[in-house]
Amino acid sequence: MQSANAANPHLHQPHAAAMGAPAGMEHCPIMPTYGPPSIMFVEGSGCWLTDREGKRYLDLLSGLAVTSLGHSHPAVAEAVSRQAQRLVHTSNLYATEHAGPVAQTLDRLLGGGGQVFFANSGAEANECAMKLARKWAGHGRHVVVSTYGSFHGRTMATLAATGQPAKHEPFAPMPDGYRHVAWADLAHLESAIDETVSAVIIEPIQGEGGVHPADPEYLAGIRRLCDERNLLMILDEVQTGLGRTGEWFGFQHADVAPDVVTMAKALGNGVPISACWAKAEVAAAFQPGDHATTFGGNPLCTAAARATLEVMEDEDVPGKARHAGALLRGALEELRGVSSVRGAGLLLAVELDGLDAPKVAGDLLSAGVIVNAVTPTALRLAPSLLISDDEVAEATRRIGVTLAANRAEVD
Ligand SMILES: *Cc1c(COP(=O)(O)O)cnc(C)c1O
Repeated sequence: MQSANAANPHLHQPHAAAMGAPAGMEHCPIMPTYGPPSIMFVEGSGCWLTDREGKRYLDLLSGLAVTSLGHSHPAVAEAVSRQAQRLVHTSNLYATEHAGPVAQTLDRLLGGGGQVFFANSGAEANECAMKLARKWAGHGRHVVVSTYGSFHGRTMATLAATGQPAKHEPFAPMPDGYRHVAWADLAHLESAIDETVSAVIIEPIQGEGGVHPADPEYLAGIRRLCDERNLLMILDEVQTGLGRTGEWFGFQHADVAPDVVTMAKALGNGVPISACWAKAEVAAAFQPGDHATTFGGNPLCTAAARATLEVMEDEDVPGKARHAGALLRGALEELRGVSSVRGAGLLLAVELDGLDAPKVAGDLLSAGVIVNAVTPTALRLAPSLLISDDEVAEATRRIGVTLAANRAEVD
């Protein structure tokens, strides 16, 4: 039996089916969770990737919204190589140099008054948030409510929180304590809240679900409900956090103050590190021994995060994302074959007019442009936040050519 996910692996690997595996990779003992890769990249710089044959690609996906400062950013590369030669890991039995400063910076960017737990992936940051919610609320109030179409990770708990039943089905039964409600429907959310609920977890823009921004009023309504019913409002900013949307955090487009915020993708510019931030009075529910992860906040990863955040602050990278995002969005909206563009900053979905998104994404890859088909009819663009005006123009030109060719085939 094939799983529901295996039925359409091209949604995340648009190019996989189109071409064979790169030479030398055909028989590698790697589990088939991702579909066969078609290309092996060996080098990256800024918005550009180079494959084994020396072909260059304009990367508009940034390794799924991860390399927000572009590939191999010199400041991050320098910090990581220096740290690799100094000290890589000690465990959390001891303090290390960069964890404190990174936590301070994140807390300041989030408005202060909070504390941070470091982990290694988005899913783990969300696991921390949901464990914290249970500990904070006490026994009997273990339920977390999330929305249909959401994505919170692939571990058992974060998969259960993810509002995509097709992803649950092969692994049923899911862990207990997760409830899903319709996206953008406050009344449905309210009806799902009873005395067993401790928290609501929501993405300010549903990312994997198709790049659907939450209305500011929706987020404000969730905040109000959480206040009325004494629930934690957890913002999953794993994809939207750290400048991607043109603000430091996606929730900052709305007038809300979350209790817990998770982040990961962009935090180490490609070096795996994530964080769960919570207001200090909430974080106080954790006591020594309640939660841990061996690699969490190690010197190598926090050195990468420290360098990444320094560049982001010094160069006003959220402001750059706002500028480049407006430019890119405006140019894409002008293209024939595009019916609409949604998102914020440099997290955009391009809804195609009667074209097959996985096919277009595959053609774009052949044309040296990396995007992914986030739905069967929409492309996701999440380029480096440092993308130049010229690169935006070049990206738009190449996309326009590929869309025109696809329209000619359909007409
Ligand atoms: C990518 C993502 C995750 C999962 O992150 P991993 O690092 O793959 O575990 C969780 N939430 C959101 C919103 C994401 O985009």
